[in-house]
Amino acid sequence: MLPPPIVYAAIPCYNEAEALPVTIKQLTEVFEQLAQERLISKESRLLFVDDGSKDATWSLIVAAQVTNRWVLGLKLARNAGHQKALLAGLMHARKYADCVVSMDADLQDDIWAVREFVLKYNEGFEVVYGVRRSRTTDTWFKRWSAESFYKLMQGMGIPLVYNHADYRLMSKRALEQLSRYEEVNLFLRGIVPTIGFRSTTVEYDRKERIAGESKYPLRKMLSFAWDGVTSFSVKPMRVVTTLGFLSLGVSIAVGAYALWSKILGETVSGWTSMILSVWFIGSIQLLALGVIGEYIGKIYSEVKRRPPFIVEEALVDEPYRTLVSTQQKEEAAVVDSMKH
Ligand code: UDP
Ligand code: MG
Repeated sequence: MLPPPIVYAAIPCYNEAEALPVTIKQLTEVFEQLAQERLISKESRLLFVDDGSKDATWSLIVAAQVTNRWVLGLKLARNAGHQKALLAGLMHARKYADCVVSMDADLQDDIWAVREFVLKYNEGFEVVYGVRRSRTTDTWFKRWSAESFYKLMQGMGIPLVYNHADYRLMSKRALEQLSRYEEVNLFLRGIVPTIGFRSTTVEYDRKERIAGESKYPLRKMLSFAWDGVTSFSVKPMRVVTTLGFLSLGVSIAVGAYALWSKILGETVSGWTSMILSVWFIGSIQLLALGVIGEYIGKIYSEVKRRPPFIVEEALVDEPYRTLVSTQQKEEAAVVDSMKH
């Protein structure tokens, strides 16, 4: 039997001093239990990433590391934001772990779901998405805004896993592929599904924050959604091109109408040429912007330098080679025996 996997938890923390003591205690319980069940290795760790907190977060992590064998810390030089802090944790952890679970420090996500994540990993899944069963503990506004967000993303053709935030397990191999994405505008929950590999989902209940306040006010949520759209989709730009075509159509119709009015003699002088040029110039400008936009879109996807493909498995030609060489050896032996 294979030894149990080394599992790291990557936990971004921003001003979480209120929640951390409880978080560390409860996560320690989970890891102790899983290690006892021989589901995870004793080399597993809880990696807390301090995202430039201004409160006692880092000193709490340092203190915990001394007394708690599971705890490790990583301190970012300044507040980089949840996504980047998480990436920092994942990239650090992948060096030592067989798989990494990303989770929030406020324990809103049921931490016992980690057991199921690991079970799925042992079954051979490389990416396990935690999916919320219901959102009853969120305020109606949070629920409504989150649901609109998923709809918007789907409309933009971005492959999101419904009701999945950043609570997931990724294998070392999947993380290695993730490290090939060099983009700076990170939107992890959009990127991970584009990596591929065998994946599955695990359902869990989302609770309320154990302490402190949400670090995602509406302003940050909107900018997060906008980041998601603009780093995944050139659709907003397509809208401009489409508008250009539409207004060109309108401009032809308006042109015909204006000329017809002119022929009927129902117009004041100057109106026809005026209305024709306004519509025509307007639509040409929109079209031109759309075309420029298309090129910028191409440049954008080039500079992101996403890996064009990810190999899951390759069959090497060893079996064939050995077969051929045995055959050749046999032939050589026959030739040899004829010589004598
Ligand atoms: N977080 C972070 N950097 C930030 C904002 C948030 O590392 O700039 C962390 C935060 O400490 C928490 C996680 O990201 O562990 C999710 O944030 P929060 O719980 O405030 O978001 P919500 O659950 O309200 O969407
Ligand atoms: Mg939270």
